[in-house]
Amino acid sequence: MNLIIFGPPGAGKGTQADFIVKKYNLYQLSTGEILRNEIKKKTELGTKIFSAINGGSLVSDDIVKKAVEVFISDKKYENRLIFDGYPRNLNQAKTLKELLSKYNQKIDLVLQLSVSLETIKKRILERRIQEKRADDSEEIAIKRYKTYEKTTEPVIEYYKKLNLLKVIDGERSIDQINTEIGDIISLI
Ligand code: AMP
Repeated sequence: MNLIIFGPPGAGKGTQADFIVKKYNLYQLSTGEILRNEIKKKTELGTKIFSAINGGSLVSDDIVKKAVEVFISDKKYENRLIFDGYPRNLNQAKTLKELLSKYNQKIDLVLQLSVSLETIKKRILERRIQEKRADDSEEIAIKRYKTYEKTTEPVIEYYKKLNLLKVIDGERSIDQINTEIGDIISLI
């Protein structure tokens, strides 16, 4: 099976993705990570990617498409991909569908980890108290949350219409969320 996981920063997406990867022997394809690796190679392409990421914009759909196709076309990862940080817009969602069908695959499930902004703020505050420090991380976190909401909304709507979307209540404990995700996957 191939999955997509969505969740705002601070929702515990990384923890849940790790769980799914281990339990179902999947491969986590994080476009952010692939792009950062390309920067490290110091290629011409890497320089372009660096400018986009550092300037706070998205990397072009064309570059991301090429990066993702490397994995989708590889037999090693066939029907065992979990997409993280991708697709970021509707064009990417459509491209993903085309790429998967080119290699006789499809998306089987889309998980959205849902956590309110209030909870994210509370988590940051708790961390601050524990670590006894004050910084501007709350402001940054709010900005990231809003950007996430704005950019992923149309993509999530797209998968909802295709009946692939499952919304997971991310306000609960890690174990409860693990269990729910396991139950959903077992029904595929
Ligand atoms: P992330 O690690 O997912 O937060 O990604 C870090 C940065 O990489 C983003 O801010 C974007 O500039 C770029 N990036 C990651 N994934 C994509 C994507 N699917 N499309 C375009 N740019 C991306």
